[in-house]
Amino acid sequence: MDIDDSPELGFASLAVRAGQARTAEGEHAEPIFATSSFVFANAAEAAARFSGALPGNIYSRFTNPTVRMFQERLAALEGGETCIATSSGMAAILATCITLLKSGDHIVSASGVFGTTLSLFNQYLSKFGVATTYVRLSDLSAWKAAIRPETRLFYLETPSNPLMELADIQALADLAHSHNILLVVDNCFCTPALQQPFKHGADLVIHSATKYLDGQGRCVGGAVVGDQQRVGVDIYGFLRTAGPTMSPFNAWVFLKGLETLRLRMLACSESALHLAQWLETQPAVERVYYPGLPSHPQHELAKQQQSAFGGIVSFDLRGGREAAWTLIDHTRLISITANLGDAKTTITHPATTTHGRLTPEERERAGIGEGLVRVSVGLEDLGDLQHDLDRGFQRLV
Ligand SMILES: *Cc1c(COP(=O)(O)O)cnc(C)c1O
Repeated sequence: MDIDDSPELGFASLAVRAGQARTAEGEHAEPIFATSSFVFANAAEAAARFSGALPGNIYSRFTNPTVRMFQERLAALEGGETCIATSSGMAAILATCITLLKSGDHIVSASGVFGTTLSLFNQYLSKFGVATTYVRLSDLSAWKAAIRPETRLFYLETPSNPLMELADIQALADLAHSHNILLVVDNCFCTPALQQPFKHGADLVIHSATKYLDGQGRCVGGAVVGDQQRVGVDIYGFLRTAGPTMSPFNAWVFLKGLETLRLRMLACSESALHLAQWLETQPAVERVYYPGLPSHPQHELAKQQQSAFGGIVSFDLRGGREAAWTLIDHTRLISITANLGDAKTTITHPATTTHGRLTPEERERAGIGEGLVRVSVGLEDLGDLQHDLDRGFQRLV
């Protein structure tokens, strides 16, 4: 379907319609183009495609129709000009950094970003002369103080993992732009269903499609959304050369995932809010981290910047690691896994898993206590989730 002449379509319509280009077969659902290469009518057409004089497919490392449908749909949902899909979320971050940075450049990043992103910056980009300074996500003055003449990127996730701290995207975009810096937002936790960083001034949006875009824990993938020059030309150029492109099958899974994205995000946000309120009443719980709670220090910002509060709830237990492991080990329904954004609710002890490689001092500075538990709320019945956690809580009182 060509929706170019209906720019008024709303989010829900775009989620099921944007990007689909029907073939002559008249299929209703989007097809998977499982082909590595494409054929030409004659030698002259091949030459014209290769030279770029004639647009069209050549090879699936460059373009693939199923991948393109996913890219167009995600770009429409984020409100970005264009999108490039990648083989993983990390490949999206790598492609962005390699393309936009050169030796001598500098990144200012939020300190609490995804652990593998920290490794990418610290172990690999540093080898090529790209330095990174880390600041507290919510501390605008720290971002400002970290700026150097060679700073090119501000990099952040909001809300942060696992403490659900927020960045004021518009304030950071204004600061970045007044210093000729690009603001890159990893929109994994909210997805465009709940937060559209471009509306608040972000320049590039990154996704690990592995999480909520898939939403059912099946495929690994990623994407970068942004303007035509940076994403459609520059980052695309890196990707078709270096090769971490998305497979057509994975693109199809994510494309279909986008169709239910808003329903899933609203459902898990609603359950998460109720769960967070319930957790606040538990004697064993010292503190709940959820932006939908009035007790969250950035609750007002969350209400302005997000349309709902997301599916991730973290909380501190009074009894430290022993209490956290007791609670986790008494679940039967909730999955013990570090993944998130799945229809299945998951539970994690960050201090010994996702953040286990940090030194105790680093963990303390990051606010990751031994009693901290993170839950990624899925689509099960709320009562069943409460019952599952209650079994552990009974042991803690
Ligand atoms: C998982 C994740 C990534 C990395 O994505 P992969 O698809 O695992 O490569 C990046 N950012 C955030 C916030 C994530 O949760």
